[in-house]
Amino acid sequence: MSLAYLDKLNPEQHQAVVHGTAADAAARQGPLLVIAGAGSGKTNTLAHRVAHLIVDGADPRRILLMTFSRRAAAEMTARVGRIARLVMGERADIMTEALAWAGTFHGIGARLLREYAADIGLDPAFTIHDREDAADLMNLMRHELGFSRTESRFPLKGTCLAIYSRCVNAEAPIEEVLRAAFPWCAAWAGEIKQLFAAYVEAKQAQNVLDYDDLLLYWAQMIGEPELAGEIGTRFDHVLVDEYQDTNRLQASILLALKPHGDGLTVVGDDAQAIYSFRAATVRNILDFPRHFSPPAHVVTLDRNYRSTQPILAAANGVIGLARERFTKNLWTERPSSRRPQLVAVRDEADQARCVVERVLAQREDGTVLKQQAVLFRASHHSGPLEVELTRRNVPFVKFGGLKFLDSAHVKDVLALLRLAENPRDRVAGFRVLLLIPGIGPASAQRVLDQMAAAADPAAALATVVPPARAAADWPAFVAAVTELRSAGTGWPAELERARQWYEPYLEQRHEDAAMRRADLVQLEQIAATYPSRERFLTELTLDPPDAASDQAGPPLRDEDYLILSTIHSAKGQEWRSVTVLNVVDGCLPSDLATGTAAELEEERRLLYVAMTRARDELALVVPQRFFTHGQAAFGARYVTAARTRFIPDALTPLFERVSWPPASAGAPPRAPATGVRVDVGARMRGMWR
Ligand code: ATP
Ligand code: MG
Repeated sequence: MSLAYLDKLNPEQHQAVVHGTAADAAARQGPLLVIAGAGSGKTNTLAHRVAHLIVDGADPRRILLMTFSRRAAAEMTARVGRIARLVMGERADIMTEALAWAGTFHGIGARLLREYAADIGLDPAFTIHDREDAADLMNLMRHELGFSRTESRFPLKGTCLAIYSRCVNAEAPIEEVLRAAFPWCAAWAGEIKQLFAAYVEAKQAQNVLDYDDLLLYWAQMIGEPELAGEIGTRFDHVLVDEYQDTNRLQASILLALKPHGDGLTVVGDDAQAIYSFRAATVRNILDFPRHFSPPAHVVTLDRNYRSTQPILAAANGVIGLARERFTKNLWTERPSSRRPQLVAVRDEADQARCVVERVLAQREDGTVLKQQAVLFRASHHSGPLEVELTRRNVPFVKFGGLKFLDSAHVKDVLALLRLAENPRDRVAGFRVLLLIPGIGPASAQRVLDQMAAAADPAAALATVVPPARAAADWPAFVAAVTELRSAGTGWPAELERARQWYEPYLEQRHEDAAMRRADLVQLEQIAATYPSRERFLTELTLDPPDAASDQAGPPLRDEDYLILSTIHSAKGQEWRSVTVLNVVDGCLPSDLATGTAAELEEERRLLYVAMTRARDELALVVPQRFFTHGQAAFGARYVTAARTRFIPDALTPLFERVSWPPASAGAPPRAPATGVRVDVGARMRGMWR
């Protein structure tokens, strides 16, 4: 059989794709690491490898593929299909459909845990807490233990959760985590331990798992020799993309799945490690080969296929100043006379206007909106741009920002579904009960206690006597939960049933009920794409759909729209044109991250990740000043900003420097010289504090 798809690969990619298969002339076996720079075809190579494995006879049902987002998994699966079709024809479609184990670490963990729940003493009806739910439960425990009294200055719920999460993900003891990352909380070590114990107990009593538990339970499950054998052998191949951003727990899961590394392939780039704030460690990828004996086979790729030479030169310049040395020296054969631009604008308002002008001009020149992305360090940086895009009727979709699912009304309806799925879930229970007029925190607590004490908490609901003031609404609530728990309604009609129950509260609680109702209708459309309530709740919690600009309508699937994305969420992707906002000190690096040299280095890699998303056009926008609130005492309405320290003067020749509006259109008035230099980041923080 001639394998046409192999011809397009360069020799190193080819080697990685055929490693361990019949087409491997060197007959290599064992684990494989592909460590290579941005745009060198790592993800593409992985997709070819999966397709090739299938063509080579591997059973797609026995392939486990883990990517950084569910979207990335879906794209990869589609790509595998296209490649396999080249040689297998129609049959490839059936094969790729069978590629059912493709997803994120957390998503795969959730599925395996449900399947093996009985073996590890877990109730398979567990519900999953997102970060907000988890923080709420942590808060509940703080109160119960009496740690939250105002005079005590005990760490806030978010901080407690962050400490907890880091302990879990870094597999590190509390004292060590406090010392390294939360020194101001160190005095509370004893209480924090007590709190975590109570938090863990509460989760177990309520049959809920938080994000970290999905990894933790998975790791523990696979620590059982019998289960390790069973789960490890059901996958012949385990492949992981973006391995530089995995944490210790994920690495230990992987090594427990494939202790000898047979069938194991990991792919990543140490220069793009940007998740250490979630305890990811680049050591995972650097140490990978030595975990095995003989060591894993290592393939490096150094040809970049994505970007033009001037863009690559600028990106290489930025990463070349990093403290660590990255061994890769990327080169490309895509010449261009156009250097990336450093665009000076007066302020954020001008930045927004300038970006919209550029976007529309590029569309005129034939680059559709979907091939253009605007990236930023923090989600709130895009606020003024979103306003301007809306004003000019330019459709956009925002990745990694405020999620559609974070809105109160959507959470309310989902909470009812969650309660129906798992009546022990107290955070969901609280949320739902507090919607009912006449029920306050104390009576909600009482109801939940009564439910918790019963063998069948949902059935117990029928015997609960509600407070008199809630008596009128109570039967409708009990009826809704009961119906949703019986299989009668069916999926996705259940969601409509939940919305019916919610309808009166929607009117009572929200002035803009019509708009919110439209969101709920949209939620029903999304729900229809999931096979069951359980899958819907799990996957939505783990990887919510992105917020669209057109919240009232269905997702803008087939239309043309501009991409707005945080840099973190832009990982692995590419666009013809990329514009990066607020390339100034205080935003990038974020002034929240300038504490340690390591944090600063991660910010540098973030800029590198942003720049390497661009294929043909790259612009970094540098506002000269930022509007500031609350600085009137200094007589300053604006503070001046400086270009990011990651592009020192020595690198500016790699860029074309322009100002907007162009000089001919009248030079922008200079910022009033106040002589006051204030942290831009402080103002940014003010926006969400
Ligand atoms: P990142 O580090 O950003 O995740 P990557 O290394 O995963 O990047 P890919 O996204 O796989 O890189 O590939 C980058 C681009 O290069 C894609 O458009 C891909 O189609 C193209 N490409 C990869 N390999 C080849 C090749 N051998 N010939 C032509 N184009 C290629
Ligand atoms: Mg990639």
